Amino acid sequence: MSGFEWFGEEERKEVNEVMETGVLFRYEFPSERNNVFKVETFERRFASYIGVKRAQAVTSGTAALKTALAALGVGPGDEVITQGFTFIATFEAIVEAGAVPIPAEIDHTLNMDPADFERKITDRTKAVIPVHMLGAPARIVEIMEIARRRNLKVIEDTAQALGAFVGPKKVGAWGDMGTFSFDFYKTMTTGEGGMITTDDETLYRNASEYADHGHDHNPAVSRALEGRSFLGFNFRMNELQGAVGIAQLAKVPAMIDQQRRNQVMFRETLDGFPAVRLRELPPGGEDSYTHLCFFVEGQGKAQAFCEALAGKKIPAVFFKGNLWHYLPNWEHLIAKKTLWRGPHPFGGPLYGKEIEYSPDMLPQTSKILDSLVVMPISLRMDEERIRLTSMHLQSVAESLL
Ligand SMILES: *Cc1c(COP(=O)(O)O)cnc(C)c1O
Repeated sequence: MSGFEWFGEEERKEVNEVMETGVLFRYEFPSERNNVFKVETFERRFASYIGVKRAQAVTSGTAALKTALAALGVGPGDEVITQGFTFIATFEAIVEAGAVPIPAEIDHTLNMDPADFERKITDRTKAVIPVHMLGAPARIVEIMEIARRRNLKVIEDTAQALGAFVGPKKVGAWGDMGTFSFDFYKTMTTGEGGMITTDDETLYRNASEYADHGHDHNPAVSRALEGRSFLGFNFRMNELQGAVGIAQLAKVPAMIDQQRRNQVMFRETLDGFPAVRLRELPPGGEDSYTHLCFFVEGQGKAQAFCEALAGKKIPAVFFKGNLWHYLPNWEHLIAKKTLWRGPHPFGGPLYGKEIEYSPDMLPQTSKILDSLVVMPISLRMDEERIRLTSMHLQSVAESLL
């Protein structure tokens, strides 16, 4: 579930190499850094792991989304379609870009319903952000087909699904750009951090320059003399984070293997219960096993299931009640509260109309989440803990289903 569970000697060794040079910064200091380029190395290895040409490291997954939107030229007057079941960061990044987030429904993949995505397209839609939630891929092949046909840009929010894939490609390599997060909850961590992936050299340059005040990164001149083509911002990752990233990335395949072993064990416990329906994967889709997600039908059943597990000290989440991942629970978004004077971006002359959000605007998502049980899969589980968890899972299922 989280890289911070597997943290130790390898990370320390990488960080120490930075401490020995004393250069904590990603750019400059060519003579002092003794050929240590941790962030650059991390980016190269990350791009190769995902299977893309380019990767740009930034300070968070939210910064990665904001940078990707900037690189694609998304801004005021544009609508960006995403899903109403995601971490709120996806919406925040769209609003920060000055665009209007439009929520689509999810289906039983727990990710964007392609048909509803297509229904939500208007003449203002510029891009779509499918989110690969809770470890597993969205129906990215169908989403890409619709986006290409309708001339829309695609950013995959891959914060929660590092290492998952569909057919021949990892998620984060399908869209025009992919974004990743390395915060405390994600498959690998750098303390805080994020990454943007792309095969497009122009988008890469836009992202790389935007995330560094617009510097054009001309190796022939000093930083003070570099040119710039547009205004940017500072989302630079530092060398200490890059060092941790190198060590964590090397562990990702083993972490996913461990998660798979643990998740499959719990899944097998549920095999004997016909009332349990597992989360769907798209054709050719492969999970990264960060969570076990399943549906139990019946009024109040899923919530009772989660509470019963929690009563046995087994972490389980009833996401419909979660305050950070589901649009109807975001009263501040629904009220369009910003620190600046409204109505931008939700209304105003550039948008030319006014968006309304309401708690009942996603009936299909609401129905799916009613029956959803989510168990986070820890990396640190010894035989005894696995045995106890399976036993409790079995007894809760027997008593409720
Ligand atoms: C964690 C997360 C983000 C944001 O990442 P941070 O690094 O915390 O900014 C964005 N989208 C999703 C789906 C996430 O889970």
